[in-house]
Amino acid sequence: MIRTMFARTLFNRTTTSLHLHHSLRCSYSRKMSTETESVVAGIKKAGLFQTKGFIGGKWIDAYDGKTIEVNNPARGDVITSVACMGERETQDAISSAYDAFGHWSKLTAADRSNRLRNWYNSLIEHKEELGQLITLEQGKPLKEAIGEVVYAASFIEFFAEEAKRVYGDIIPSTLPDRRLFVLKQPVGVVGAITPWNFPLAMIARKVGPALACGCTIVIKPSELTPLTALAAAELAHQSGIPPGVLNVVMGDAAKIGTSLVESPQVRKITFTGSTAVGKKLMAGSAETVKKVSLELGGNAPCIIFDDADLEVALKGTLATKFRNTGQTCVCANRVLVQEGIYEKFTSAFSNAVQNLKVGDGFSEGVVQGPLINEAAVLKVESFVQDAVSKGAKVLLGGKRHSLGFTFYEPTVIGDVKNEMLIARQEVFGPVAPVIRFKTEEEAIQIANDTNAGLAAYIFTNSIKRSWRVSEALEYGIVGVNEGLVSTEVAPFGGFKQSGLGREGSKYGLDDYLEIKYVCMGNMA
Ligand code: NAP
Repeated sequence: MIRTMFARTLFNRTTTSLHLHHSLRCSYSRKMSTETESVVAGIKKAGLFQTKGFIGGKWIDAYDGKTIEVNNPARGDVITSVACMGERETQDAISSAYDAFGHWSKLTAADRSNRLRNWYNSLIEHKEELGQLITLEQGKPLKEAIGEVVYAASFIEFFAEEAKRVYGDIIPSTLPDRRLFVLKQPVGVVGAITPWNFPLAMIARKVGPALACGCTIVIKPSELTPLTALAAAELAHQSGIPPGVLNVVMGDAAKIGTSLVESPQVRKITFTGSTAVGKKLMAGSAETVKKVSLELGGNAPCIIFDDADLEVALKGTLATKFRNTGQTCVCANRVLVQEGIYEKFTSAFSNAVQNLKVGDGFSEGVVQGPLINEAAVLKVESFVQDAVSKGAKVLLGGKRHSLGFTFYEPTVIGDVKNEMLIARQEVFGPVAPVIRFKTEEEAIQIANDTNAGLAAYIFTNSIKRSWRVSEALEYGIVGVNEGLVSTEVAPFGGFKQSGLGREGSKYGLDDYLEIKYVCMGNMA
C-alpha cells in the first residue's frame, strides 16, 4: 500500500513535470540551427555523441522505442532525441550493476584506482567536447562549462587516490583472548539521481567515491541534460571501467526513481536536486531501509558587514550570485548588507552586474547564459513580481532579456524583506535580492531564518567576527571573504533540509561504505 502510494505520488509529480516540459517544448524549433549542427558534428567525430541508455556495457534503445527531445536553451532548437526509458530498463540496469558488484568489489584498490585515473585522464583530454555538450544542452558559457569538466574530473582523480586509503581499525580488546577488527566494505549497488544545473559535476561527485570503494552504480541524469552523462559513460567504458559497473538510464523520472528506490538490490540512493523530490526518495527508501545521501536546495545568505573590503565583497558576491546564471544550489539567494555600507555597495554592485555580458554560451565574452527552460523564467518573474508588489525596488534589470528565449536580465532588487517569496525560496536565476540589516545579531537571525542550510558567505575584515559568525550560521559550508568555495578536497553538504551526507573530501567516502565489526575469539 505504502509502495503503491509512493509510486503514485512520484508519478503525479513527474507527469506534471513531463507534461510541462512537453508543452513548453512545443515552442522549440525542430530544425537544428547551423551553429548547433557544427558543434554536434565535432562532438560526433570524437565519438561522444550518444543517445541511447548504457546498460551492462551496451548502448540500448528504450524497449518500447520511445524517445525524448533534448533542447538547446540558447537557440530554441532541438539538439537530438534520446532513449526515454522506464521501469524495465532500470530493472535491467540494476541487475547488471548487481552482477558486476561481485567482480568490481573484489578487484584490488590499486586496480580500481588505475581505471578511475584513466577515466580522469580521458575526461581532461576531452574537456573541450564535454564542455561543448554542457553548453549545448545546459546553456552555460563555454569557459564555465569547460571549468565544470575540470572540476568534475577532479573528483574522479581525488577518489582514484582515496580508493587506496579505505582503512579499517584494530580495537584494543576488553578480553585477553579476543581480537577486535573493523573492516570497511562497499555498500553495494548505488542508485544516483542528478540534476541539470551541473550535468557532469553532480555525477562525478557520486560516481568517484562509489566506484573507488567498490560499489557499482545506476545513474539517472536529468532528462534536460542527458548527453553529457552519456559521453562521460562512453569515456568510462573506454577507460577500463567494466560492463555493468556504471550504467545510465534516462527518461521517465518517476518510474526510474521508483524502480531504484523499491529494488532490494539497490543498497543506497544518492540524490542531488530539489528538496521536494529528495524527501520523496527518502520516504520511499524507508521500505527497504536504504542508505540515503541528499544534496538538496539551499537559500544562501551572503552577508556584507560595514567593515568588509568593498572590492573583495563585490567580487565575491558577483561570483557566488551569478555563476551559472544564478542556477546553483550554493548561489547567494539573499544578499544581506549592513546599513552603513548599503548605498555604496548596492550602487557599485549594480554597476558591476550591468557589465555582465548575456548571450549564447558559445559567443565570445558571454558570462551569463539562458535559464534552463521557460518554467524557470516564469518562476523568476513571479518571484520578482511578488517582491515588487510588497515594496521591494528594482535597482537593475527585472525583466526578460531582449535576446528572447529563456534569457533574463541580470537583476538587482533592493529593500527586500526576509518574508518575501524571493527570500524564502531559491530564485535559481540571475536575480540578487538585497536585504538591509543593522546589527550582527540581526544578520545572523535573518540568515538562519530558513529551513535550508547549505552554503553561507560573510564579508568582513574582522577576524573575531569571522569566527563568531561562521560558528553561529546553521550552514554546512561557510565562505569567509570568498564567493567560490567548492573543491573536491573539502566536504560539501547541508544542515537542516538541505540534505544528508557529504560529497568530496575524505568524508565523501563514508556514505558508500559499511562498517563491519569482526570479533575473533579463543585467540590465546
Ligand atoms: P529536481 O526537479 O528535483 O530534479 C533532480 C533530479 O531528480 C532530475 O534527474 C529529475 O529528473 C529527478 N526527478 C524529478 N522528479 C523525480 C521523481 N518523482 N522521482 C525520482 N526522480 C525525480 O531538481 P532540479 O530542478 O533538476 O534541480 C534544481 C535543484 O537541485 C535545486 O533545488 C538545487 O538547489 C538543487 N541542487 C542541489 C545541489 C546540492 O549539492 N545541494 C547541487 C545542485 C542542485 P528529470 O529532470 O528527468 O525530471
